[in-house]
Amino acid sequence: MRGHVRYISTRGGAPPVTFEDVLLAGLASDGGLYVPSEWPRFTADQIAGFASLSYAQVAARVLGAFAGDALTAAACEELCRSAYATFDHPAATPLVQLDANRWMLELFHGPTLAFKDVAMQLLARLYDLILSRRGETLTIVAATSGDTGGAAVEAFRGSRHVRLVILFPDGRISDVQRRFMTTPTDDNIACLSVAGDFDDCQAIVKGLFRDDPFREAVRLSGVNSINWARIAAQSVYYFTAAAALGAPQRPMRFVTPTGNFGDAFAGHVAAQMGLPVEQIVVATNSNDILARAFQTGQYARGAAVATQSPAMDIQIASNFERLVFEAGGRDAASTAAVFEQFARTGAVDLSPAARSYMVARFRGEAVSEAQTTAAIVEVWRSCGRLIDPHTAVGVAAARRLPDAGAPIITLSTASPAKFPETAPAEASPWASRHPRADALAGLPERMTQIPADADLVKAFIREFAQA
Ligand SMILES: *Cc1c(COP(=O)(O)O)cnc(C)c1O
Repeated sequence: MRGHVRYISTRGGAPPVTFEDVLLAGLASDGGLYVPSEWPRFTADQIAGFASLSYAQVAARVLGAFAGDALTAAACEELCRSAYATFDHPAATPLVQLDANRWMLELFHGPTLAFKDVAMQLLARLYDLILSRRGETLTIVAATSGDTGGAAVEAFRGSRHVRLVILFPDGRISDVQRRFMTTPTDDNIACLSVAGDFDDCQAIVKGLFRDDPFREAVRLSGVNSINWARIAAQSVYYFTAAAALGAPQRPMRFVTPTGNFGDAFAGHVAAQMGLPVEQIVVATNSNDILARAFQTGQYARGAAVATQSPAMDIQIASNFERLVFEAGGRDAASTAAVFEQFARTGAVDLSPAARSYMVARFRGEAVSEAQTTAAIVEVWRSCGRLIDPHTAVGVAAARRLPDAGAPIITLSTASPAKFPETAPAEASPWASRHPRADALAGLPERMTQIPADADLVKAFIREFAQA
């Protein structure tokens, strides 16, 4: 599967690039997102063989398929071994059984207790390898709904090649999420507490990428899930979980708690690469733009509301653009038209053909606050496990599926210790504690308050990049 893998923009206005360039660029210069020009594929025998490999070994094979000539097989193995050695579980992403046919895939055993570590630990090592090869430094700017920021700070702190600036929505993330970002003291890290919501933060970051002189001046790069390497890294656990439960002979259903559609799209990627996936259920909280899109065929922005699952309080799901591109037969001109209209009017109707492509694999389910709380209580009572509110959105959506047929794997995206305020009174107080979260409480925090204003953010970053 080696050779020259190329990446193209969903809007067709940027030239095809290599894996190295796609990693370092983040967003394409035409505002589109990169996807591979064709899907690498695994055979059924290769997928069956994943069941007897370690997580890091499967990750190395998936990474190798996307990196092509950019990395040797030995380099892939070493990067993945070292990335997943930071996890506090030997399986990296263990499966937990809920009942006869339902499972949870725990993705939160990395250093900052949420699934963002899975990709970010690998990404930081890829950046350092490629930047030291090239003798370059750059500035990564990322918007976070809570967990990307902490995972990025932990992964890039102390890097000699990367300066990192995080934008988070002021007051809309949990205390533990904030402390993972604001307590490290490394001077290559800066955190901006933005007076706005996540969509404001994301819009500012996207705007930075469209400003060519600024982009050049600070050598801008991005690690939001618009970065292809993150999606690639997240497709790995779909393979390992499915193989452990009998894929490819048995197809699987996945339920993915969703905000920016990155994790859910990673499941689509695994399927495009040959994994038999019967269905991917896109589970949202009351910020239900995606659930509505699959149910009605209209992708229409609503007002963002704050919920107990803040990492999914998102109304503009960036990675949906990648699915629209696929669903439209990879027609870049029509993808560009769809997202230009969406940017102008906040609503767009999917074509009947695109919608039928989507619903052949995806189903949308929106979960209310009360249903989220009920799922936390229900799993505590039936299994003695405390789950976090994002996972609970997935578990509540999974309950709506008929029990017959393929196993149902719900992605468990954060440790309950990141959201102790949502634990029911009846749960053991120890269930919402984690030594790594406890260790941050009371440490001094560093952050800069800033209005949701692109020019002020630019000025801050220019100065930081020169320091
Ligand atoms: C980021 C995040 C999500 C949503 O993931 P997307 O890739 O944005 O869909 C869900 N749960 C948690 C805990 C997260 O941090």
